[in-house]
Amino acid sequence: MKEMEPLGTQKAGAEPPLSLSVLRQMLDKSPLATVALDRGGLVRLWSNGAANLLGWTEAETLGRPLPAASGLLDIRLHTSVEQFFEFVWPRKAGSPVQVGCSVSPWLDDDGQPGGQIVIMVDVTAQRKLEQERVALMENEQLAREQIKAEGRFRELLEAAPDAIFEVDSEGRIVLLNAVAEKMFGYSREELLGERVELLIPFDHREKHVRHRSAYSAHPSTRPMGGDLELSAQRKDGTRFPVEISLSPVHSEGGMRVSVIVRDVTDRKLTEQKIRAMHEEFTRELSATNQQLELRNREVERANRLKSEFLASMSHELRTPLHTIIGFSELLKEELEGPLNEKQRRFMDHIHQDSRHLLELINGILDLSKIEAGRLDLHPEQFDVAEALQESLPSARALGAQKSIVIESLAPGGIVVRADRTRFKEILYNLLSNAVKFTPNGGRIWIEAKESGGFAAISVTDTGLGIAAEEHESIFQEFYQVGATTRGVREGTGLGLAITKRLVEQHGGRIEVESEPGKGSRFTLTLPLAGVDPVSVRERPLIMIVEDEPGAQELLAGYLKAGGYDTVVCANADDALRKSNECLPDAITVDLMMPGRSGLQLLRELRKMPQTKALPILVVSGVDEEASALAFGADLYLSKPLTKEVFLKSLDQYVRRAGQR
Ligand code: ADP
Repeated sequence: MKEMEPLGTQKAGAEPPLSLSVLRQMLDKSPLATVALDRGGLVRLWSNGAANLLGWTEAETLGRPLPAASGLLDIRLHTSVEQFFEFVWPRKAGSPVQVGCSVSPWLDDDGQPGGQIVIMVDVTAQRKLEQERVALMENEQLAREQIKAEGRFRELLEAAPDAIFEVDSEGRIVLLNAVAEKMFGYSREELLGERVELLIPFDHREKHVRHRSAYSAHPSTRPMGGDLELSAQRKDGTRFPVEISLSPVHSEGGMRVSVIVRDVTDRKLTEQKIRAMHEEFTRELSATNQQLELRNREVERANRLKSEFLASMSHELRTPLHTIIGFSELLKEELEGPLNEKQRRFMDHIHQDSRHLLELINGILDLSKIEAGRLDLHPEQFDVAEALQESLPSARALGAQKSIVIESLAPGGIVVRADRTRFKEILYNLLSNAVKFTPNGGRIWIEAKESGGFAAISVTDTGLGIAAEEHESIFQEFYQVGATTRGVREGTGLGLAITKRLVEQHGGRIEVESEPGKGSRFTLTLPLAGVDPVSVRERPLIMIVEDEPGAQELLAGYLKAGGYDTVVCANADDALRKSNECLPDAITVDLMMPGRSGLQLLRELRKMPQTKALPILVVSGVDEEASALAFGADLYLSKPLTKEVFLKSLDQYVRRAGQR
């Protein structure tokens, strides 16, 4: 075949150009739809391709405007530059077709613009393909994202500390995490598709099916079982306590339920341990309380028996002793005949030792009376200096035997309220000790001053002195300091014990300052007459020990209405101090207080002479009746308390003026 020259490049003298009919044939063989329009936009050429693409034949289109062309296309067709665009072209029959268009002007033989050539190609298939590709890509992207989201969801699921299940409307497990496998001992494969009842103890399964349908009727996010203690069952049949929360999930597969199961074995164990500890503690406490109460009663009984024994023994002993002393004195007077030297010495021993024995017995009797609370004081007001003048002569007589001068430096006008006889006894005890433990020619003096509602009276000597470590012991019964008293063995060791108790029973204190070789000073305090309210009180005084202001006010209100005066203490220390100062007629104690507890306070109050016999009522919100009574309360009243009950109870314990 002869090689063809490209069109339009023929040289003169070569073969003649292709004829129009050949060109037309070529045009018609081309699959491109080629259309030529004249300047007026009428069709001048309509190729086979165009007829095939759009359905109109050349005969139907020649000399007419483009069939079914829209205004938009018209504009495109009236430009003078070549354009490419895509267009949806209506067809004579069937659906419109998507075409790629090229529009360019053509020139006539004179080079003048003749109109437009429109070349079209069907791009429907191509577009469709492209669309499909895009859709595919989009799908792929979506799928990737979905996978990613699922992965994240899975991660979350697996990171949760709890077992998580998703259960479909039939109760079948459709999803679970690894914790679930571990918690229940099943593998994922074993659980998927199984009913969730598999994880519930046998005896609850049937019920659960009903609960499940009830839940699907009213789905909401909530814990399962309300306040019930739930348990779950492992593959091996063992059970464990759980907490379960449910929430509805909507999916394509219908309503599902997400179930979160928490194993609370450890928590329950801890709770149990705490409960057991608490129970044991309570048991121990009440056992201790019982023991305490028992011991208290035993001690009380023993004390009473001891006092009774001592009282009767003292009486039994004193009578024959008086006889011994009396007759030995008679014999010593030799009225019944003369005694020889030896007999006289023997008589002296008998007389001296029986006197000592009598002193001892008297001391013991005093002590036991004080301890049993049976030593009655008869308080009166008197001037300390005056009362001293009454104790001094006998003490001075003792001193004179050792050339010891006893001076009173006490000023007049210090008036105390005390039992005058007991006061003199106290002073005599201190003075006779001073004489006993001061060498010949020493000095003893008495001073007195007022201080903080009390009279402070001191007896100072220039005697042997007492080592610091003995300062407490000397106040104990039968205690005598060996070293200092060597050669001075006259006492009973009871004097200071009795003195201390007597002073304390008056609401005062006694202290010693002393150093060996430097003398001693014993100082005692007694309430000043003006500050002792008990005697002048018209209404009984009740001390309220209570830290909470509201409760203080309430009790004070009740008491006022009941004809009592009140003094309020906010804590135990306050109460200990004030009870000494204002000597109440009864005390109410709250058990729960900051600092020293009510029970400790009770113990202290029961130890102090001035409060140990006072009525003490515990008014408390804590259930501690046994302990309160064991620690010495007379009555336990629990809060909340009505005025009637409170006053009625108190009235039974407090003696009114005139009754006292
Ligand atoms: P006593 O009957 O022995 O005097 P007290 O109870 O009165 O018993 O005293 C106890 C002990 O305290 C005495 O034995 C003595 O050792 C010591 N004591 C008491 N008063 C004095 C004092 N003024 N100087 C030195 N020691 C004293």
